[in-house]
Amino acid sequence: MNPKKCITDLPDSAYAEKSVLVRTDYNVPLDEKGNITSDYRIQQSLPTLEYLLKRNAKVIIVSHLGRPKGTVVEKLRLKPVAEALQKLLTNTVVHYSDTCIGQAVTEKVNTLKPGEILILENIRFEPGETQNDPVLAKQLAALADIYVNDAFGAAHRAHASTEGITHDVPINVAGLLVERELSTLLPLLKNPDKPFTAIIGGSKISTKIDVLSQLLTQVNTMVIGGGMVFTFLKALDYNIGNSLLEEEHIETARNLMKQAETMDKIIVLPKDIVIADQFSADAKHQVVAANAIPDGWIGMDLGPQSTQHIETVLKNSKTVFWNGPLGVFEFPAFAKSTQAVAETLAELTEKRYLKSILGGGDTQAAIDQFQISPSSFTHVSTGGGATLELLEGKALPGIEALDNKIPTTSGV
Ligand code: AMP
Repeated sequence: MNPKKCITDLPDSAYAEKSVLVRTDYNVPLDEKGNITSDYRIQQSLPTLEYLLKRNAKVIIVSHLGRPKGTVVEKLRLKPVAEALQKLLTNTVVHYSDTCIGQAVTEKVNTLKPGEILILENIRFEPGETQNDPVLAKQLAALADIYVNDAFGAAHRAHASTEGITHDVPINVAGLLVERELSTLLPLLKNPDKPFTAIIGGSKISTKIDVLSQLLTQVNTMVIGGGMVFTFLKALDYNIGNSLLEEEHIETARNLMKQAETMDKIIVLPKDIVIADQFSADAKHQVVAANAIPDGWIGMDLGPQSTQHIETVLKNSKTVFWNGPLGVFEFPAFAKSTQAVAETLAELTEKRYLKSILGGGDTQAAIDQFQISPSSFTHVSTGGGATLELLEGKALPGIEALDNKIPTTSGV
């Protein structure tokens, strides 16, 4: 990847009284009441914002939150995020706009003072965002003299606010978070100490399917957990009761297991499962063998035997990459395997037995819930999908679109 210009590569004078549009990743985890359960991503954006504010820039923030699919979804408004940011930046005025483009936004930008922040509404309320619509990109670009991409978590998407906009703003640079993520992740993921283990959890195979097969080529061992594990168990013809199943991916799971066998790689599947009679925090629960989930019951967490096995795998690893919780960690009764693995990984990292890289909002929310400091791991990335794609060796379109540190010359 050609090194990209960062905000520190421009002279301080470039920012004074200029409108700087910063694409952040404020896709924070929310509970069912809409409360922000972890402000890690907001915290991680502060160095860039403070850098720009100190240089007297007018800072306009654009972010997405969740998947509103191009329409206004009340519970995905960025107002609570703006309030959280205001609490963190007590000496700065943070304005919030309940729209992200249009006349009202232009007026707010025109009255924005140097050293102030304006957060625009969730950009994914606009259908043009995920379609990388050039009209939307131009509308956003019209607000800015300088574009800063600090949304590492969205850098793998070619969207209007991550890629399209760069075609219409004259100066496009990376923020400090993006720079730190890349400079930490690239060496760790490109040349990992072996044995290299990936732990992949979370609810759905479908969101991670594209990377699993490629990931398998990079690692020695792949541990599968979370809701997606049941599609793998189904592929082994086990009874999975009412557990999460992606019928259309049973074959994919089967192929991945075959691929592992021919490549001499290990896929670790659970031996026991914590099952519940309903999907709720206070459900009746018990531990059963992974091939003996009774009809009507739901797999909610990996069992103690499986957890112990994963811990042994970790003790024999030198690099561990973890994306996605291993169970429904939001309910304490089903958080045990995620917590045990997080604690073991933190301990092994602190003792310098291995390097650990965690990615994804839910993994981060989980360690937050267990009150394990991110500093206990080698790196806690704000990116889930972006980290997975880096690991695959793919270029990230949101990064590729930024100005090169050393301009490429079209030679004669
Ligand atoms: P993802 O967004 O794909 O990373 O998935 C994260 C979510 O997976 C968390 O909210 C977990 O509660 C959920 N999850 C983990 N294990 C299970 C499971 N066994 N059944 C249903 N959801 C799960």
